Amino acid sequence: MTAPTIPLAGRAKDLVGSMIDSSTSLLAAQRHDIVRFAMGSPADEAVPSDEFRQIAGEILDSSSFTYGATEGEPRLLGLLVDYLAGTADPASEDRLVITTGGMQGLDLACKLFVDPGDLVIVESPTYTNGSATALSYGAQLLEVPTDENGMDVDLLGDLVARTRQTPKAIYTIPTFQNPSGVTMSLERRKALLEMAHHWGAVIIDDDPYGLLRFTGEDVPTFRTLSPDDPLLFSVRTFSKILAPGWRVGWVDADPSLRQLLINGKQAMDTCTNVPNQHIVAEYISRGGLDEHLASLRVLYRERKDAMIAAVAKHLPGVASVTDPEGGFFCWMTLENEYADVDTRELFEIALAEGVAFIPGPALSPGGRFHNALRLCFASSTPERIDIGMQRLARSLETLTRG
Ligand code: PMP
Repeated sequence: MTAPTIPLAGRAKDLVGSMIDSSTSLLAAQRHDIVRFAMGSPADEAVPSDEFRQIAGEILDSSSFTYGATEGEPRLLGLLVDYLAGTADPASEDRLVITTGGMQGLDLACKLFVDPGDLVIVESPTYTNGSATALSYGAQLLEVPTDENGMDVDLLGDLVARTRQTPKAIYTIPTFQNPSGVTMSLERRKALLEMAHHWGAVIIDDDPYGLLRFTGEDVPTFRTLSPDDPLLFSVRTFSKILAPGWRVGWVDADPSLRQLLINGKQAMDTCTNVPNQHIVAEYISRGGLDEHLASLRVLYRERKDAMIAAVAKHLPGVASVTDPEGGFFCWMTLENEYADVDTRELFEIALAEGVAFIPGPALSPGGRFHNALRLCFASSTPERIDIGMQRLARSLETLTRG
């Protein structure tokens, strides 16, 4: 009997995968002293693991082991409302749904707003897990260049006009962007809101890093600029501020969308992992989150400074790098005689040298940025950052010497 053809859905061809996520298992298989600039993981020492262990022992009772409410555990929702009241983006409970990480928030956004063929605007470069989610719902992506002030909104009108389509959604990471580290300016945020309203497009505002500003002044959020705006859909997560393994995040959306979000989530996973929600809730209830965030800001500032210093020390005249005011990432662009280097080729050599990063083309749906790299400074100590940069410099020499 000949092997039957497996009857894949048409959309299966649009499941593009993520080099960022794949690098977790790739690196797990490597020699263990590799310097990890690749994944956007918090530092091990930034995770309050002792406290989590203690809480887990105390909190896990029978209520943790059954199905929970799809919209989220009531205790966590209540504590989140209280917590958000002290931030730039306060939200009432009827706006919130707990999600399985920020990724599920992005999936729900696309499930609600993206039909096959719809035009979705993304930053270039972008967090390609987000653009991959839009692609998985059949979106046409329009990449819009970014500079030190974020998405170049001035170009948007012309670029959209050329597509002869009206955008349905705008996917943006406005603050300490993944992968570039840049923050969208106030003027551009205002202009983007105006354009979204002009087109009737949703702004999918993905902001996992906003609470991790270690220098400079906060820029008003979209919600501050346009309170109760039904076209704003905010995707948030505890992954970067507590621990990504919990897979606990939330969306903040217009109350009219809440039942649809619940229905959409029910078709995915019924509810977010209940014990994990209880652990996060208990952690917040103990009141240490603000202090924890303050310590993360100190830790990550030191690491960002170490990365900038290591670039100046080991790659002078070779690369320019963004200098973010918060978050996890620097974006490096190879220059001068290195401008033609393909960072996908460099990646293989760098891995053998003992340093990992994400090559630029993996952060652009169209495979742009052949000579750029995303570098996560959050996971490594200053000493390891220096070693990693030295290895990167050596890899570049190996590649270009042929
Ligand atoms: N959006 C952005 C911009 C991110 O950087 C990440 C995590 N790397 C996510 C969403 C996904 O977050 P989570 O791990 O909570 O699913």
